[in-house]
Amino acid sequence: MHYNHIIEAVGRTPLVKLNKVTEGIKGTILAKVEYMNPGNSVKDRMAIRMVEDAEKAGLLKPGGTIIEGTSGNTGMGLALAAIAKGYSTIFVMSDKQSKEKQDILRAVGAQVVVCPVDVAPDDPRSYYSVARRLNAETPNSFYPNQYDNMSNTAAHYENTGPEIWEGTEGKITHWAAGVGTGGTICGVSKYLKEQNPAIFTLGIDTYGSVFKKYKETGVFDTNEIYPYKTEGIGEDILPKNVNFDVIDEFIKVTDKDAALMTRRLAKEEGLFVGWSCGSAVFGALEYAREHLKETDTMVVVLPDHGTRYLGKIYNDDWMRAQGWL
Ligand code: PMP
Repeated sequence: MHYNHIIEAVGRTPLVKLNKVTEGIKGTILAKVEYMNPGNSVKDRMAIRMVEDAEKAGLLKPGGTIIEGTSGNTGMGLALAAIAKGYSTIFVMSDKQSKEKQDILRAVGAQVVVCPVDVAPDDPRSYYSVARRLNAETPNSFYPNQYDNMSNTAAHYENTGPEIWEGTEGKITHWAAGVGTGGTICGVSKYLKEQNPAIFTLGIDTYGSVFKKYKETGVFDTNEIYPYKTEGIGEDILPKNVNFDVIDEFIKVTDKDAALMTRRLAKEEGLFVGWSCGSAVFGALEYAREHLKETDTMVVVLPDHGTRYLGKIYNDDWMRAQGWL
């Protein structure tokens, strides 16, 4: 048996029990290890789906250019799809994302444009605005817009969700995920709640992001928006893929708690994962400590791989400079 292209190997990632960091917690915590995808992140799933849906809708034509604003992982998935299908890629990133992510995208043939992070989303210099402008200026280009493109949620509803349901033989009681575009948490949650409406969905947010406050009050509070360091989760916008109806509760995790938990996952579980994985696990365990029963099974998603953060949270000098070691 063989695949005709590496993108056919996306999905069917392992569920792995957490054994050490869960000490003192009742119930079982399973991690969905998404770095096992070919682009080393969960975003491969939706990137390929956005490309294939755009082809079907006639939005992406032969020889076209895919232009996307990305924190890096969606770019990697899009780059792999583009290689398989013969498109060019231009990715617009903010300068807060790790250097490794820029280098990885260039390694797979993408053009990378870096924008300042400390400007409002509607500022012409923001990575959202620059991606839109490049799309308008580039003939035969396609701007997937992962935030509002519902192919994102659909990929997780149709694949990630069923994998988790079948992988736990329907025993899952709690689902926890970090929230960026919202595609992962909401696609999976919608599928799981259709199988068993009692399944509880926990969203992990960052300090500096609007989601938790919006869920609790219905107010888009700009006071909630301030700089933070964790990459890939938390937003200063409300993406269409965030469906608040299928997220029961949010919990916020600090950059430091997330970084320290990520390092523990590598050393104690052998899971060499990215920074937002520490956020997701830290938040999931906080909730589990208070609410999980012996018979409960919680699944938490680990979105990406540790190599992308070697210069930051896995670098002791960098950690000391933050005052975190
Ligand atoms: N973690 C990382 C590292 C990511 O790149 C992303 C995607 N922005 C997420 C978590 C959040 O996933 P989603 O966009 O599906 O909410």
